[in-house]
Amino acid sequence: MLQALGVNIRTYHLNEGHAALLTLHLLRQFRRPPEDIAPGEPLYEQMHVRERCLFTTHTPVEAAFDKFPYELVQRVLGDYIEIEELKRLGGRDRLNMTQLALNLSGYVNGVSRRHAQTTNQIFPGYHVRAITNGVHAPTWTHPSFARLYQASFPHWAHEPEVLARADQLPDDAIWSAHQEAKRELLGLIKKQSGVDMLIDVPIIGFARRMTEYKRPDLLFTDISRLSAIARERPFQVVFAGMAHPRDEQGKRLIALLHEHIRQLSNAIPMAFLPNYDMGIAAMLVAGTDIWLNTPLPPLEASGTSGMKAALNGVLNMSVLDGWWVEANIEGVTGWAIGNGHDPADGVSQAEDLYRKLAQIVLPLYYDNRPRWIWMMKQSISKIGSYFNSQRMMRRYATEAYVR
Ligand SMILES: *Cc1c(COP(=O)(O)O)cnc(C)c1O
Repeated sequence: MLQALGVNIRTYHLNEGHAALLTLHLLRQFRRPPEDIAPGEPLYEQMHVRERCLFTTHTPVEAAFDKFPYELVQRVLGDYIEIEELKRLGGRDRLNMTQLALNLSGYVNGVSRRHAQTTNQIFPGYHVRAITNGVHAPTWTHPSFARLYQASFPHWAHEPEVLARADQLPDDAIWSAHQEAKRELLGLIKKQSGVDMLIDVPIIGFARRMTEYKRPDLLFTDISRLSAIARERPFQVVFAGMAHPRDEQGKRLIALLHEHIRQLSNAIPMAFLPNYDMGIAAMLVAGTDIWLNTPLPPLEASGTSGMKAALNGVLNMSVLDGWWVEANIEGVTGWAIGNGHDPADGVSQAEDLYRKLAQIVLPLYYDNRPRWIWMMKQSISKIGSYFNSQRMMRRYATEAYVR
């Protein structure tokens, strides 16, 4: 369509395998008649396609890659391309769209360093690089923090690297910006769920797509332990997230969370906000105190909500997977749960989560506020200055688009 409109395209950026049929169109464009090709000559059309295409994979699960039986492919594509050639590029048994994209892209990357390694293990022999995701700083910074940044670093919205200096901001300004965002969230929680939460009690936030590998129920692995921790030092929890309409397990997890919230209503104030969208996400990543993430490694390709939280001084407590492997400095920018290579049953990670919450995170919040605020500032300056989309786009432009 773009070609028909006369747009001169130099580089095609394929995100996920869904776009891989594009490479076949380009192959046909560069095809020469067989009589022009000397025996043993390199495949120039493939070379031309690779020069123009780059491929970003966003999934670390083999089973999630689109694969189509060749019978279907043949029915849809007809003689668009010779099926033997397609099998050489896209896999013998079924057309694997990721493999097709890998074979015809001159630059391939994952969305975090850990994800690039995982992709390399699934597809050995390809050079998979890493361009770690980032979030758009002005979109995800709460107005209370935006005012603060604007006053000290007037260029922060276009050049978030300058947030590196946010560790110099005054403690009371950071804390009152945070309380303003938290007060706003308390209002939303009250309005949407009827739950009264307190401003002086820390809020743990967990919001993302509800699906099995994200393990929103890991926090409830041992309910009596969780209640005991809350009796010692109170905390509150807010959840949000929707499941894909066909993800039955995801929907069951939402029902399970509602059940836990009901059962524990006398012990721990908890709420589940419906209709999770970017507006609710913005209030959650700014108004909570602790941003919890408990995926099953290595299935979190990057994760981005924790980056949004960091821009607002909300501290990450996360399983070591995706972006957090690169961002966590223990006790400085946040906390790790487990070591990133724990057994899949989640028991040791739940254990680590409870231990850190009870012995490190909650005591710090209640007993050492200056150190907590110091960590908020470290999180803004070390994470906000780097895990932003401006840095990400610059890397795509200089390393992937112009080669
Ligand atoms: C940021 C965001 C996500 C992605 O969050 P992850 O941590 O990457 O899972 C999903 N949904 C909404 C509405 C968001 O704002």
